[in-house]
Order: sequence, then structure tokens, then C-alpha cells
Amino acid sequence: MCLGEIVIGSKHVKEILEILMAEYPDAQTMLVFNSRFELLVAVILSAQSTDVQVNRVTAELFQMHKTPEDFAALNLSEIEELIKGVGLHKSKAKNIRAMAEMLIKEHNGQVPADFNELLQLPGVGRKTANVMLAVGFNQPGLGVDTHVHRVANRLGLVAAKNANRTEKELKALIPQELWSKSHHLFIWHGRRVCKARKPLCEECVLEELCPKNIER
Ligand code: SF4
Repeated sequence: MCLGEIVIGSKHVKEILEILMAEYPDAQTMLVFNSRFELLVAVILSAQSTDVQVNRVTAELFQMHKTPEDFAALNLSEIEELIKGVGLHKSKAKNIRAMAEMLIKEHNGQVPADFNELLQLPGVGRKTANVMLAVGFNQPGLGVDTHVHRVANRLGLVAAKNANRTEKELKALIPQELWSKSHHLFIWHGRRVCKARKPLCEECVLEELCPKNIER
């Protein structure tokens, strides 16, 4: 993707995104899913778990359970058992069951394409709602997880104490058509190079541009 014709307010952010796009041309979600509902379940499961763990669990889970109706028909302990390979599985099981029931009752069993309606669903916060819009509906969405928050702050693109503030500042800085791409690029860079504990600054393609706002 060439950014040549896209108007970006800051030359700094444009340069950063171009470098990251060249470095990670395939940056996209690593979660495996076959429908918007499966994506929603996978994103809920991904909180404080790796995509590898989530994919391992959903590979089996989605064989038999694919729809809100399938999940609503299970009792809580059955869902807990099915997803116990991810962290926080008890609270996630509760949320997934309640989310499936709400989709059936209020949305004809469909995942809504509206940010505020997504936010009403149990287990869905701003990050998940943004990811659903971007990945599930191909609409503008910039989900801020721990990687996006850390990388954007270290790079000096934002100066934000929490994810909500980072989301707001990044959305003001980056044009809508690049929100989803930027989300994936920051995640990929955060996982591979700008790691939480030991960022690999000496190997980083952004080294010369980065103020390295790293909290020790
Ligand atoms: S130079 Fe260091 S702090 Fe800056 S983005 Fe790269 S790894 Fe992160």
C-alpha cells in the first residue's frame, strides 16, 4: 500500500507507517474464524491470551459451536470446559453466553455493525468493538490493545496514560482509511520488536525516528 495520495497530518506518522508497511506487508489479524460471530468470540477470548492459544481453543470449539444459538444452548460449565485453554476462562464463558443470548434477543442472532450497539454486548469493550468494525465489517476501527498503546507511546505518536486516550489521540492523528492497518502494524511491531519488557531497539527499523519513551 502506498501512502502517497493519502493526506496525513504529521510527516512523522506518515514516515512511521510507511516503514512499518514495508516491514510487515502481511500485517493482519492472526485469529482464525469463519463468520463475524466466530470473530467476536475469538476477540473476546483473546483478552490477556495469545492468538496462538485462542486459535488452539477455537479450532475445536468452532467445530461444533458456530452460532449464538449453539452457545446459548450450552450451560456455563460446558462453555468453561470448552475454553479453559485461555486465561480468565470463567469470566469469558459468562460473557460469551450472555453475549450470545443478547444477539438472539435483540439482533436476530446477528452481530451488529454499529459501534455503540457492539459496546452494549457483554464482554465487548472499545478494543473489541473497534476490531469488529475493522476486521468484521471492513469499516474504520482502531482497536487499542496493550501493544498498540505501548508502541504508540514509545514512538511519541501519543502521550497517553490509558488505552482510551491512546485511541482518541491516534484516531485524531491517522486518517480513517488507515486505522485498521495501523492497528495491525503496531501489534505486529509490538510483538516482534518493541516488546514490553525488552524492546529490541538496536534491531528496530524505526530506531532513528523513535524518541524511545520507554518506562523502565
Ligand atoms: S526504537 Fe525501541 S522503543 Fe522505539 S519503536 Fe523501536 S523498539 Fe520500540
